[in-house]
Amino acid sequence: MTTIEDANYSLSKILDSGSKKNLIELAWIKNVRVILPRIIITLSLPSFANSQRERIVKEIRNILLEFEDVNDVQIEIDNELSQSNSTSENNVPELQPIKGIKHIIAISSGKGGVGKSTIAVNIACSLAKLGLKTGLLDADIYGPNTPSMLGVTEENPTVTDGIGNDQRLIPINKYGISLVSMGFLIEEGQPVIWRGPMLNSIIKQFLYQVKWNDLDFLVIDLPPGTGDAQISLSQSVPITGAIVVTTPQKVSLQDARRGLAMFKQLGVPLLGVVENMSVFIPPDMPNKKYEIFGNGGGKILAAENNLPLLAQIPIEIALVNESNKGVPISISEPDKESSIKFKELAQLIKKQFFN
Ligand code: ADP
Repeated sequence: MTTIEDANYSLSKILDSGSKKNLIELAWIKNVRVILPRIIITLSLPSFANSQRERIVKEIRNILLEFEDVNDVQIEIDNELSQSNSTSENNVPELQPIKGIKHIIAISSGKGGVGKSTIAVNIACSLAKLGLKTGLLDADIYGPNTPSMLGVTEENPTVTDGIGNDQRLIPINKYGISLVSMGFLIEEGQPVIWRGPMLNSIIKQFLYQVKWNDLDFLVIDLPPGTGDAQISLSQSVPITGAIVVTTPQKVSLQDARRGLAMFKQLGVPLLGVVENMSVFIPPDMPNKKYEIFGNGGGKILAAENNLPLLAQIPIEIALVNESNKGVPISISEPDKESSIKFKELAQLIKKQFFN
């Protein structure tokens, strides 16, 4: 399996035509990410080397595509040669903690629609109800729906005093949590297409240019899948633990497996699996449970990765209704089965990091 070291070794065969030094020695390659079958690199050429750009890009692509298990090479161009020492010697970016934030929990899923945002919002609210200082970063840049789940779509976050990089976005406070979402910055219904470097920079702003204050937990609602946003995030901040959300159907396991494999490759610790929509509880017969989407998905995923199955959340009509009204169920109906499960999950997370 091709590793970052293999990629770096190959890249070290490409030379600057002037000095005859290689790209690695010259630190013109800023970042190498191997997410097989894809390799993503950032090329950072000083302006005097721009005339060689076309040749270098072509050589990088050709040399990396020689690996049998690589079929896609993405090259992000960064023209300002970084003065800061933000990468370590082996070209793995150094993680930068966010001042004041103790733990970062990332909520992810292999595909959309499995209830990832619902879980992220309710975990955040349940942590806050346990008295923990909690923030929620909605990094689902393709479908940011936490503002509507929390009933704050009309709010506009303000910024602190200061100029340029000193300014910080002030999160919206609701139900005891501090929220920042891409939903505040884009118009509703507008498609958003983020390309590599732009995406990277917006995610960095979301992490570092927000006045988060002191937080016990920052819950991050990641976009679904295994794309650039997840990679950017995992390589920017130290994630304390990732939770993978899946549904019980065995057919959805393949996507969830890919998500898990990505975190493993990126060295992000995994807290466990949450199975959503496990059983249906009819509102008029709360003692009945129907396995609408089959069973076993969460258990299988957890077992094959040696991870705990942290929670199984039922399908509840109240969960959709309340969410549509902009109130998460764990706030509006704390005695419902799913609210109890969210509370237990929050207690489990708290116990893991605070005694
Ligand atoms: P994702 O973030 O994975 O795309 P969402 O959290 O937006 O998914 O959920 C998709 C839809 O499913 C929403 O309408 C949400 O209210 C509903 N939903 C999620 N989990 C449940 C559940 N356990 N019971 C009932 N409806 C749910």
